[in-house]
Amino acid sequence: MTDEPRTRTGGCLCGGVRYRVVGEIRPVINCFCSQCRKTSGHHFAATRAGLEQFQLLSEESLAWYSSSDTARRGFCNRCGSSLFWQRRGTRTISITAGTLDGPTGLSTMKNIFVEDRSDYHDLPALK
Ligand SMILES: [Zn+2]
Ligand SMILES: [Zn+2]
Repeated sequence: MTDEPRTRTGGCLCGGVRYRVVGEIRPVINCFCSQCRKTSGHHFAATRAGLEQFQLLSEESLAWYSSSDTARRGFCNRCGSSLFWQRRGTRTISITAGTLDGPTGLSTMKNIFVEDRSDYHDLPALK
């Protein structure tokens, strides 16, 4: 056994964006708000890490969209993967859990803004 912190990697569908995150990261939160619904096509499921834990390994196709006055969203401008959400002025980054290379070792902790989900959308059960 080692004391090395766990390192996870992830990236977009085409590989133009790759990242690494080192150490403990937050369990997954599903956000159903209208912005997350639009950007993900369903709901946004994300973990979160401190910026000091996070490193971009490739960002050749990474683009950012200012989705509100307070936040921006990172995506791949080639394959369209939705990757990151970042609140301005914070030292953290939310990372879409599905872009992590598995197994993630994560669990889902909660659903938020569930009242904003679309009418077809049954709430995912939490473990
Ligand atoms: Zn891509
Ligand atoms: Zn949201």
